[in-house]
Amino acid sequence: MSVDPQTEYIDALIDLHRGIERKGPGDNAFSLNILSNLSTLPPHPQIADLGCGSGAGALLLAEYYQSPVMAVDFALGFIDELKIRAKQCELEHLIKPIHGDMAKLDWADGSIDLLWSEGAAYNLGFEQALTIWRSLLTNTGLAVISEMSWFADHVPEPAALYWQNAYPMIANEAENSDRAHRSGFKVISTHRLPSQAWWKNYYEPLREQTRQVEISPVMQLVIDEIEEEMNLFERFSDFYGYTFYVLQVRQ
Ligand code: SAM
Repeated sequence: MSVDPQTEYIDALIDLHRGIERKGPGDNAFSLNILSNLSTLPPHPQIADLGCGSGAGALLLAEYYQSPVMAVDFALGFIDELKIRAKQCELEHLIKPIHGDMAKLDWADGSIDLLWSEGAAYNLGFEQALTIWRSLLTNTGLAVISEMSWFADHVPEPAALYWQNAYPMIANEAENSDRAHRSGFKVISTHRLPSQAWWKNYYEPLREQTRQVEISPVMQLVIDEIEEEMNLFERFSDFYGYTFYVLQVRQ
């Protein structure tokens, strides 16, 4: 039986992230600051964390709002980790882990008050993700979505070439705001994740993990790519990073 190289690559990527709290750059204090500035939600808001990984966002949201969170990811290993973490945090009564595709949710239109998605929308493309998710939100619904964004008009060539190849749809905040507008949202605010959060909460644990995992040729390829991404970020983090877009449904 032949193994699909793409599947093997994704499996290695998931294996490398196994057990680390965040599967992408993010920071709890930073997220809490965003939450504290959101307009008031209904008393028992319906919340979703899409592309939740092992629940960095979902657990924070459940604790903050003391309300149920539907947490969706298509990596079964991450959903299993989320179940364990929810139990450890005594939040399992509020977390609904869903193993599924965030692009194909069969939820009713207008059923979500707060849609959260960290480091995941790019898998669908920012505009495509927002277009798909828009109808899930109530008329007063809010969305907080992080998206890799250019921070400057002129980006040094090594960073520009790398990201145009890795993520051709990368754009600056103005263009992403236009995309949000076209998808039916008003941009309330934007927040850049500080580079220290990338290192402390994501790259450093990931680097540690590269020293622990069993190395296969595919795993070595994954590690080489991550090292390249980290080296680039070390040199050029002033020019790109994650921006969190706080969005409100546009009537
Ligand atoms: N939000 C998590 C965090 O910050 O720790 C995970 C971020 S990780 C960079 C992106 C996540 O999106 C991965 O867990 C991946 O499995 C998930 N993902 C990608 N495409 C997906 C899809 N179509 N449906 C559901 N999950 C998806």
